[in-house]
Amino acid sequence: MVSPSYGARDAPLRPAEPFEKFSPPLANGERAAEPGPPFPLRLPSKALVFSGAPLEEQPKNIDPLLLELVNTKVVERGPPVQWSDIAGQVSVKAAIEEELLWPILRPSSYSGANHPLRTLLLFGPRGTGKTLLSRCISTQLGSTLLRVSGTTLLSTWKAEAEKILQTVFFVANCRQPSVVLITEAESLLAARVGEDGGQASSLKSQLLSYLDNVATSSEHNVASHRRFGTRLYIAPPDGEARRHILRQALAQQSCCLSEHELAALAQRTESFSGAELLRLCQHAEATARRALPGPPTSYQDLEKAFCKVHPAMSQKELDLFLEWDKMYGTRH
Ligand code: ADP
Repeated sequence: MVSPSYGARDAPLRPAEPFEKFSPPLANGERAAEPGPPFPLRLPSKALVFSGAPLEEQPKNIDPLLLELVNTKVVERGPPVQWSDIAGQVSVKAAIEEELLWPILRPSSYSGANHPLRTLLLFGPRGTGKTLLSRCISTQLGSTLLRVSGTTLLSTWKAEAEKILQTVFFVANCRQPSVVLITEAESLLAARVGEDGGQASSLKSQLLSYLDNVATSSEHNVASHRRFGTRLYIAPPDGEARRHILRQALAQQSCCLSEHELAALAQRTESFSGAELLRLCQHAEATARRALPGPPTSYQDLEKAFCKVHPAMSQKELDLFLEWDKMYGTRH
C-alpha cells in the first residue's frame, strides 16, 4: 500500500499533458469511424482511468439501484497485489512507475513532465497479466479499483449500459483516489457508428468524454487510442518469467521437479501466457492425483498436460501485437 508520506490521498493532481495531434496510418484498410478516428485493431486491451480530481460535471440523477449495483459488482474488494506478484514485465513495470505512479504519488519531488498522465491502455494476449498489473497499480496508489467489462456493458447490461458507465465514474469520483479499469475495452474503443444498433459507438463516445474529462485535454478529436497517455504492450512472459510462474504454481502443489526439469519446461512453453502456464500445472496436478496413492506431480504429468493446454495465440497473432506496438505503443 502507499506510504502516507507520499500523500496519495490529498496530493493535488495537476491536469494531464494535452495529447499530441496524431493521424494514425489506417490499419486493415479501416475507414474513419465517428466519433473520432478509428481504434485500429480489435486487440484484447484494458483501459485504465485514474481519478484524482473532481469531474467538471457531476451527473444529477443517479439511480440508487445502479449505485448499489456498482458498489457491489464493480468496486473490487480483492487482496492487494504487489510488484513482486508479477513475474517479468521489467520494462513495463518501470514505465508504469516512472510515467504514471511517481508523478501522482510524489508530485513535489517529481521533476519529469509537468503533467501526470492519468489514462493508460494495456494491450496484449489474454492471460498475460494486464488485470494483475491494473490491480497492482491500484494497490500502489492506495486507490479504490472499479472494474467493468466492455462486453458485459454491451451484453448483460445492455439496456442500462450508459447509465451504468455514468454511475461507475460517479462512484470513482466519490471514492478518490480511484482507478477505473475497463476490461475488454476494445469492444467499445473499436466500435463504429451503426454497429450494434449504435449503442457501442455511443458508449464509446461516453467513455472518450470521460477520458477527456480526466485528462482535461484541450484536444478532443485525436484518435481514440491517442486519448491514452501511455499505451503499453503486455507480451507473453519470457523464459525467466515463465520459470518463475511455473515454480510458484508448482510450489502450491506437492511436486517433485528438479531445477533442470523446470528449465526444460520453461523452454517448452514459449508463447504460453501466465494463465496458460497455471492451467498446465493444474492439469498435471489433476493427472497426478488420479493415480494411487496420489503421488506428487511429476515431469511426466506435465508432459501429458501439453496435450490439453496449448497457447491460444498463434505466432501470426503475436506478430500483429508487435506491429500494433510499433505503430502506437509508447516507447519505454
Ligand atoms: P489478462 O488481464 O492479461 O487477461 P490476467 O491478469 O487476468 O490476464 O492473468 C490471469 C492470471 O494469470 C493472473 O491472475 C495470474 O495468476 C496469472 N499471470 C499472468 N501473467 C502473470 C505474470 N506475469 N506473473 C504472475 N502471474 C501471472
